[in-house]
Amino acid sequence: MRLRVDRRTGEVVLTVPKRASRRQALAWADGHRDWIEARLAEVAPAIPLVAGASFPLHGRPHRIDWLRERPRTPRLEEGRLVAGGPAEGLEARLLRWLRGHALAVMAAETAEFAAKAGVNVTKVRVGDPLSRWGSCSAAGAIRYSWRLILAPDWVRRATVAHEVAHRTHMNHGPDFHRLVERLLGTDPKPARLWLRRHGPVLHRIGVAV
Ligand SMILES: [Zn+2]
Repeated sequence: MRLRVDRRTGEVVLTVPKRASRRQALAWADGHRDWIEARLAEVAPAIPLVAGASFPLHGRPHRIDWLRERPRTPRLEEGRLVAGGPAEGLEARLLRWLRGHALAVMAAETAEFAAKAGVNVTKVRVGDPLSRWGSCSAAGAIRYSWRLILAPDWVRRATVAHEVAHRTHMNHGPDFHRLVERLLGTDPKPARLWLRRHGPVLHRIGVAV
């Protein structure tokens, strides 16, 4: 039997072999209560995207400013995201807008770095993978986590430079790292460290509680 706490959802997952009984498994998990509670305490608190909530966007705190009579399409202002329309579906509309905004910003940055590297990128997409911030296919398509738009700009740009550099080097060798640094104009290591430390928090934003 195996116990795991999902750091994104805060769910406790118990894996049980076919032959074990449900009662036995739950009794076994109950014996690990202290361990489960310690792991749950490490999960970052969820930040649902609701009226009045504050969440990081471009690495700076933004408040969700909602009033029913405003236009449904969210608008980005200094320190706030202004949205209207019915309260129902507000979080879904905000998430859709954030994904679109993330795609627009990262598509432009991808084009900027691709021009600098002299490579072509066939397609840019955003998704919500748990384990990686970006990926680059051999065919030249790049996919980013939309959540990079929540991180500071210098962190996001380092990830974009990293993926674009894979269009030249499909590995993480010394030439690859030199190219990333040349595209970015600075050492990308602090950005990787930032993501390692704060990534779990980004994954808790916009999670329904
Ligand atoms: Zn890589």
